[in-house]
Amino acid sequence: MAVATAPSASLGAGFRQMYVNGKWTDSSSGETFDVVNPATESVLASISAGSAQDVDRAVAAARAQFDGGEWSKVPGPQRSRLLNRLADLLERDKEYLAKLESATVGKPLFEPTMLDIPNSIDTVRYFAGWADKIEGRTIPTAGAFGRPVFNYTIREPVGVIGAITPWNAPTMIAAWKLAPALAAGCTVVMKPSEEAPLTTLHLAKLVEEAGFPAGVFNVVTGLGEVAGAALARHPGIDKISFTGSPEVGREIQKVAADGFKRVTLELGGKTPHIVLPDAALDAAVGGVAIGLFANSGQICAAGTRVFVHRSRYEQVLEGLGAAANGVKQGDPFDPQTQMGALVSRKQLDRVAGYVRLGLEEGAKVVAGGDRRSGKGYFFKPTILSNVSNDMRIAQEEIFGPVGAVMPFDDVEEAVRLANATRYGLSASVWTRDINAAHSIAARVRAGTVWINGWGAIDPRLPWGGFKTSGIGRELGARGLDACTEEKVVTVVM
Ligand code: NAD
Repeated sequence: MAVATAPSASLGAGFRQMYVNGKWTDSSSGETFDVVNPATESVLASISAGSAQDVDRAVAAARAQFDGGEWSKVPGPQRSRLLNRLADLLERDKEYLAKLESATVGKPLFEPTMLDIPNSIDTVRYFAGWADKIEGRTIPTAGAFGRPVFNYTIREPVGVIGAITPWNAPTMIAAWKLAPALAAGCTVVMKPSEEAPLTTLHLAKLVEEAGFPAGVFNVVTGLGEVAGAALARHPGIDKISFTGSPEVGREIQKVAADGFKRVTLELGGKTPHIVLPDAALDAAVGGVAIGLFANSGQICAAGTRVFVHRSRYEQVLEGLGAAANGVKQGDPFDPQTQMGALVSRKQLDRVAGYVRLGLEEGAKVVAGGDRRSGKGYFFKPTILSNVSNDMRIAQEEIFGPVGAVMPFDDVEEAVRLANATRYGLSASVWTRDINAAHSIAARVRAGTVWINGWGAIDPRLPWGGFKTSGIGRELGARGLDACTEEKVVTVVM
């Protein structure tokens, strides 16, 4: 498999420093870490590895802007204009950002071109629209101490937000955190994943160009256990907004508890697809395949547990096997490519390890099942049968292009199996029966249920998980609320 080195090879040029208090700086330790192109295994850039001291500087800058600095006096309509300007700049640089995302994450160029970058722009514009519409309420009560009262509420920005992001959709998730925070009047210190920090650094360049005051948005690059941990425990942070694994999310919540920081957690998933016997099977097979193989399965909402009514099981299994075998995998910059590489060797080993484990537990390979030879962290699109829902491959998040297809006999069993997981991020139901669709949607414990579709995410729709998939919501009006505190003012008359 030929993997082109151009045009991705030069994309990392010019990246090294982080963005703190409106200045581009090296880390205080002078240390760096390498960002690798997963399709070619070549180093794209060496990036400053932020220390606790760098986090301190960034938090101090964000605090100063929040606590009476220039930003604290910027009214909603002006915040809206700044965010719209940022959206314009993202629009201007969308092709470059898509290439940068593709080169760092390994996803085929069409994905960030069609999804991640347009969604990021849309998110910034959506929250730009909210910035001058953050309103309070008047609430009638019976009075107090025998006197009439007048109550009203104010929504105030929650404060300085520490935002920690993963590598799988780095631009989009950065936008999901940055846009509502700045719309609400908060300030932000962002720590992008060490695997894919480049688009977040470019975002910082655009924030600077848009004219946000220095210190309102800061990016501290670095390792999770150093820079991320320092941010999570920093006393100058009011809220941590984290997207990543449940294991790190749990640690963050524990550390945040010390300072009573507000916490939003967007964690993993093990999304079930439920295919009923009356489903339009071609559409279901196509939709399930997209949900499995988009971004090489490195999506929190990846639909990795496919429950199919026994009467359709063989047909769907065959269809998914054929879909997997038909995926064109290779150079992310080749326009024909449908699936690229996994993000890192570690991720490749993890996915290969899970498939091995599945086979040891009795699963059978219908398609794929191993890595590709040659350069790059490529794992073949994989379909497994002979899986039961209690096997580790059906319970643990693999974060790779691996789907387990399992039969069920009736709707009761399908719902029970769908819910038999510690996760609850999303689910898909495939049927022409609207009663069954809505009834299953009501009973599946997940933050989002798609009917006859998968992955229809939009900044206007709240996003988040039940159970181990997270706490709180991002996006939509609830996502804005999560960046505010509600204050009550009572006038005793
Ligand atoms: P991760 O938890 O390893 O890392 C996420 C971020 O946390 C990175 O920036 C990392 O540097 C940082 N980090 C690591 N250790 C830390 C610590 N001790 N303290 C503070 N920060 C620390 O996750 P990942 O491998 O980057 O991403 C994959 C995970 O993210 C998957 O579980 C996936 O499901 C989840 N995810 C969830 C959503 C969602 O919306 N629910 C979206 C995308 C990804």
